[in-house]
Amino acid sequence: MNFDYFVIPFLIGSLYFFIVIIWKFANIIRSLNTTDKKKLLKGLIGLPLIRSIIEIFSESLLHRKIFKVNIMMGLMHSSLAFGWFLLIAFGTIESKIHSGKPFNMPYDPIFLKYFTHNVNTIPYFGLFSFIMDFLLAVVLSGVLFAFIKRFRSMLFGMRRTTNLNFNDKFALYSLWAIFPLRYLAESFSSALYENGGFLTGTSGMIINNIFDIQTIQMLTNPIWWGYSIALCIFFIAIPYSRYMHIPAELLLIFFRQAGIDMKTKERGKRWLELYSCSRCGICIDNCQLSSSLKINNIQPAYFLTSERRKEENKDATLNCLLCGRCETYCPVGINVNNHRIVSRERYNKRIKNNYEYLENKGNSLEQYDVLYFAGCMTHLTPSIKKAMIKIFNHNKINYRFIDENGSICCGRPLKTNGLTESAKAIREKNTDLINSFNGKILVTSCPICYKEFSEEYRLNIPVLHHTQFIDNLIKNTTILKKGNDKYIYHDPCDLGRGSGVYEQPRNILNNIGQIIKIKNQKEKAFCCGGSLANHILTDNQKVELANQALSEYKKYSPDYLVTSCPLCKKSFSRLNSIETKDIAEIVAENIQN
Ligand code: SF4
Ligand code: SF4
Repeated sequence: MNFDYFVIPFLIGSLYFFIVIIWKFANIIRSLNTTDKKKLLKGLIGLPLIRSIIEIFSESLLHRKIFKVNIMMGLMHSSLAFGWFLLIAFGTIESKIHSGKPFNMPYDPIFLKYFTHNVNTIPYFGLFSFIMDFLLAVVLSGVLFAFIKRFRSMLFGMRRTTNLNFNDKFALYSLWAIFPLRYLAESFSSALYENGGFLTGTSGMIINNIFDIQTIQMLTNPIWWGYSIALCIFFIAIPYSRYMHIPAELLLIFFRQAGIDMKTKERGKRWLELYSCSRCGICIDNCQLSSSLKINNIQPAYFLTSERRKEENKDATLNCLLCGRCETYCPVGINVNNHRIVSRERYNKRIKNNYEYLENKGNSLEQYDVLYFAGCMTHLTPSIKKAMIKIFNHNKINYRFIDENGSICCGRPLKTNGLTESAKAIREKNTDLINSFNGKILVTSCPICYKEFSEEYRLNIPVLHHTQFIDNLIKNTTILKKGNDKYIYHDPCDLGRGSGVYEQPRNILNNIGQIIKIKNQKEKAFCCGGSLANHILTDNQKVELANQALSEYKKYSPDYLVTSCPLCKKSFSRLNSIETKDIAEIVAENIQN
């Protein structure tokens, strides 16, 4: 059996790591409800298991999504993660071939070169030396990238990188030390036993030329100790640093592939997502509060860290548009908005609500094809209402305007501001109201209402945003005048990123004129700044956000800026930069008689 006392720190560190991780994971799994536990069990067999393995391979090891956002970052992450994984995998095979036994000590692949002296008796020695040295070079390049990124993030195309706390620094520096120490240790062993490959063998020769044999013998063992201690420190630091994301992301992938809903208030699932944030910082540059307003302390990298440390961070919790742009770019796919909404409950616990004045007005004997719910913001933008009424009338649709005489809130603005109980109360009231009518579908003109109705209400009828409704009309009955106007379509946050409605508005505009493809569209679309989920930003700051979007749109010289949200229309129209219309208005103007 191979053994030296320096393997002990490695054994202690890895044992500690596994005990803590198993304990944390067991607590998370224990916190699941029975349905989720059953889903997880099913997820561990068959197709979900295969999908989990594929996702682990492509995201946790190769970091495909990070590559898509930033090639340099992708190279850094994948050379570290995939390179290290392959070092362990090939090291395990190599150590088994060396020993000729099916079971070795767990540290054998890690310290193999220390114990390998007579290379002539080892099968495939040359091949494995080459592979292992190549993989070590890959990981060392990852460490070099990480070092450069930490101190010169601009070279990676990142305006900002995350600030590290003490635990993160402790773990980071031990991680950085692991591979240079391994390289040094293997080079010294190679100087003694000529057991290195093209990399460690060459440096072994250099070491032989610099030092005499006694000095090399004296230094070799302490360097292996250093390597083992660096591994020990890193393993012990993982659960208390951002590197907890390495094991947590694996469990998160299994949860998601098993179909477990992660958008929840449940503690265990929330903790799993908090652990899974790697603090890569990709969300910082892609947040408009950073790029446009230079507010650099509220992005998910900081907000989730505060949540994980159970720190009060009111600013990070409240000063956010909930636009979801950061979620689009997050390589881990963390439901950041959900975390923010849950933590906002701490600050806005309750208001006195009385919705008794809202009466149920329906008459279940009258039948309607469409129940139209304009929403508060549409009432404040009457041209959209008028356009919708024209479209209904032109198509002879038997509709009922259920909030015609006054706006009723759908509840989402209350919810996104942490007033969960009040939102629930108004949802119940509205559900009674909508169900009291005998309609076939519910149509709304507001993306905020659409998202809330679709996700939170339990209605007896389907819900459509007016873009979806009009798109259906165009496919079936309505004929529009086709002209030469060029349109830019601005995706509203809650309709696009929030609800995945991208194609219907584009289909409609393609039937009327030409739609211009722009850089930041669909999932990457800018927020107009008019979000009802932020009460911290000043009006000037909101204007700045709208201007950020407009300055991109102006580059394409469109005839009209088109959107499908009353708030977006208001935010852009008041700046008189590009003529802005709601898609319903464009359709109403272009109906062929
Ligand atoms: S939230 Fe996502 S993008 Fe932001 S730091 Fe965490 S892992 Fe990176
Ligand atoms: S939701 Fe929008 S405003 Fe909030 S942090 Fe993410 S990108 Fe920034």
